[in-house]
Amino acid sequence: MPTHAIIPVFDGHNDTLMAVGAGKGDSSKRSFFERSAEGHLDYSRAREGGLAGGIFAIFVEAPPGQGPQMSSLKAPDTKAMDFPLAPAIDHTWAQDQTLRAVGRLITLEKESAGRLRIGTDVAALEDCLAQGILSAVIHCEGAEAIDSDLESLEAFYRLGLRSLGIVWSRPNAFAEGVPFRFPHSPDTGPGLTDAGRALVRACNGLGIALDVSHLNEKGFWDVAALTEAPLIASHSNAHALCPVTRNLTDRQLDAIGESGGVVGLNFAVGFLRPDAQNNPDTPVERLAEHARYIADRIGVDHLALGSDFDGATIPQAIGDASGLQKVLETLAATGFDELELIKIAHQNWFRVLRDTWK
Ligand code: ZN
Repeated sequence: MPTHAIIPVFDGHNDTLMAVGAGKGDSSKRSFFERSAEGHLDYSRAREGGLAGGIFAIFVEAPPGQGPQMSSLKAPDTKAMDFPLAPAIDHTWAQDQTLRAVGRLITLEKESAGRLRIGTDVAALEDCLAQGILSAVIHCEGAEAIDSDLESLEAFYRLGLRSLGIVWSRPNAFAEGVPFRFPHSPDTGPGLTDAGRALVRACNGLGIALDVSHLNEKGFWDVAALTEAPLIASHSNAHALCPVTRNLTDRQLDAIGESGGVVGLNFAVGFLRPDAQNNPDTPVERLAEHARYIADRIGVDHLALGSDFDGATIPQAIGDASGLQKVLETLAATGFDELELIKIAHQNWFRVLRDTWK
């Protein structure tokens, strides 16, 4: 049983939209509103774990037969991990898949009978938290759906897009992501393209949050030099504790802290364990160690959660979204007090999004 009252969580990253069906969509996929034992997140498990809302990513797989599917990239059982960089995907394919996923979330909101609401401002997220409505922020994990002239960016904004990962772990018109490598530095390739620089400025202008998780180190520093908004790494951990390309070096952590930004702790065991093994039998304490490291280095105001539910192997002891309070209890046991836990659980995300959105 929880030793403290349930603290509502706003979580920085899930891939659930790719795992559920809605409306007349893919009926082979599970329903968001029926409790499932599959994957990590649905409405019931969100309630059980105190999940008040989150950033719902739209991730576009490579078209069938054109490059590795994300699921195939997730089982490094060898000592070192050295995946090649995934190939770029086609813009038209990505735009179609992204529009479908946005439609799926809008349909889920309609089917929810008031239980789920798409959030486009922080007042709405706070209102949802107070009323027990699950909030969902639309995020694109990689900007392939946006044309390089940025003509469609405003259209996606009007559809509710409020957060954009410039890249997933592959190249696109704007930047290049990190291949999954361990042990390895995140400095794996070139920085932002001219279109990437224009994208940063345009997102600043519209008030779309830019997410540097998956971006390589040169791209990170390009964004840091250019952006007027706090730096956000929605689902990454400390490279000092798990030296995988997806994690943040001390210098990157410092820059995020100095910008007033936030790091969302990723529950993926491969980004937590010192050996990066994809082993679900990983104690929640490994997550607390990253939390403590980041909080000690850049301050607890810059630490939040970014579970990667439905996108990664997470510790068995958390299990799924219903185990979220177990994460907070473990953080409490390692010395974070109640006020700090509330910041980590949702206040830091709300502050950064308020500072970013117009
Ligand atoms: Zn990701």
